[in-house]
Amino acid sequence: MHELSIVKNIFDTLIENYGDRIVEITKIEITAGLLSNVQPILIKNSFAAFIEENSEYKNIELEVKVNEIEAFCEKCNKTFIVKYHKFVCDNCSTPSSIIVKGTELYISQVFFIE
Ligand SMILES: [Zn+2]
Repeated sequence: MHELSIVKNIFDTLIENYGDRIVEITKIEITAGLLSNVQPILIKNSFAAFIEENSEYKNIELEVKVNEIEAFCEKCNKTFIVKYHKFVCDNCSTPSSIIVKGTELYISQVFFIE
């Protein structure tokens, strides 16, 4: 299952970075580009299943932020937002396959007990 391995990866990264402090985490936010193949609802379900099995993490909340896709137009020398998977510049209508944003997947914020 794709999403579950992502969730495991997230926890591996948290343990690597924060060690024992992981139990003080209350919330994490991950940012996923629209092209990263991550479905927020599926990742939330996998996350819920994971913390159910690993109850030491049960206080951690997950938020998924979705980034739009941005491509670059060489003709206009600027980026544009890709809507409905139309990789066409909104200024000059030239097609572009240069993706500058949208494939990313990373932990963007970690919140700790205050
Ligand atoms: Zn253009």
